[in-house]
Amino acid sequence: MEQEQEDILISKRELFELEDYIRQMWQFLPIPIAFISPLGIILEVDEHLETLLGYPREELVGRSLLDYCSEKEKFAQIQERTLNGNPVKNNEECSFMNAQGQKISVGISTLARIDEELGEPVGYFIALWNITERKQTGERLQKSYDDEKGLRQELEAQIDKRIELTRTLVHELKTPLTPMIAASELLMEEVPDGPLFRLARSINKGAELLAKRIDTLIDAAKGELGILELVRTETDLLDLLHRIAEDATPLAYSHNQVLNAELPVSLPTVSADGERLRQVVVNLLDNGFKFTPEGGRITLRAEKKGDAIIIEVEDTGPGIPVDQQQHLFEAHYHVKSENKRGSGLGLGLALSKMLVELHGGKIWVESKEGKGSKFVFSVPLRSNTSRSPKH
Ligand code: ADP
Repeated sequence: MEQEQEDILISKRELFELEDYIRQMWQFLPIPIAFISPLGIILEVDEHLETLLGYPREELVGRSLLDYCSEKEKFAQIQERTLNGNPVKNNEECSFMNAQGQKISVGISTLARIDEELGEPVGYFIALWNITERKQTGERLQKSYDDEKGLRQELEAQIDKRIELTRTLVHELKTPLTPMIAASELLMEEVPDGPLFRLARSINKGAELLAKRIDTLIDAAKGELGILELVRTETDLLDLLHRIAEDATPLAYSHNQVLNAELPVSLPTVSADGERLRQVVVNLLDNGFKFTPEGGRITLRAEKKGDAIIIEVEDTGPGIPVDQQQHLFEAHYHVKSENKRGSGLGLGLALSKMLVELHGGKIWVESKEGKGSKFVFSVPLRSNTSRSPKH
């Protein structure tokens, strides 16, 4: 064995001089290289290979490289291929165990050295470079990707569940209200003015209010889930605003307030969901009536400004402290104040914001404590932004 080893042992320097491929590829690179006999015995190593495996040259030479490899079958195949004239070039990976018992991943290149006279391999060069860190980074990235994918799938499953729940809620909550509203309306028509009529009217009012609140809740849930959809048509906003003002006047009157509609003579039509924009304006007006004391004034304005229509609802109510204005459009937010008037779900402004943004517009508030509030929103003349519905 020793004799055989000596016979074919060629100094590394000599080999490097002989092998153009290796010289060109690796002479400047600190890449661990070994020369291995056809039987897999290490005949020579360089200092980089000593460092890589953590053993001194004296321990490595004479042993089989397979002893250090943790994927023995794979490595045996690489060796066989090399000796059969199919060198491995950069594209094989294998894992080894170093002296500290740590697993190291290496990339492998091999090149057989053929004895010219015999035409047979006298051994092969093997370069092993450490790719442990790169692999670990790759594995970490893969793990983060898998984790993220898992979380996303979980989230999507939860969203699907909530969508299903929202659909069930619409059905379960609204279905019993429809006959209540219809029956109370019928009663109001049938019975003469008196206690029974007032009872029917009270049932009707309560059921209508409940239906409205359920709608708000469901719309807000849909908005959060990204499934709130607009039904856009060419909409005459001026006509819509006139009708809203007309409908709201009796309400202002019942609160001893004045509703002013300062509307222009004309406005361009827009591609919008009229019913949804009505919801926004009505909500802003309702808030105006609710928070403004008796004798106050609520003003509805509209104008074309640049490439948008600006709609404003101004009141002479208590105003909103500057530090709280940024939270107004968050769901369930109520302004902290001593003389709180009325209380709702705290969803009106959050839903208004969703609806305005679905139209590609913006909504904001201008207010000073004690100086009234002005809620303003824009509707772009050209519809270019609309969140795509999820389902
Ligand atoms: P709610 O249904 O509770 O009125 P909104 O989202 O419409 O919910 O309004 C959120 C909060 O913003 C209200 O509870 C109130 O504190 C404040 N707010 C809204 N509009 C006005 C206004 N015109 N004047 C003063 N405060 C207002």
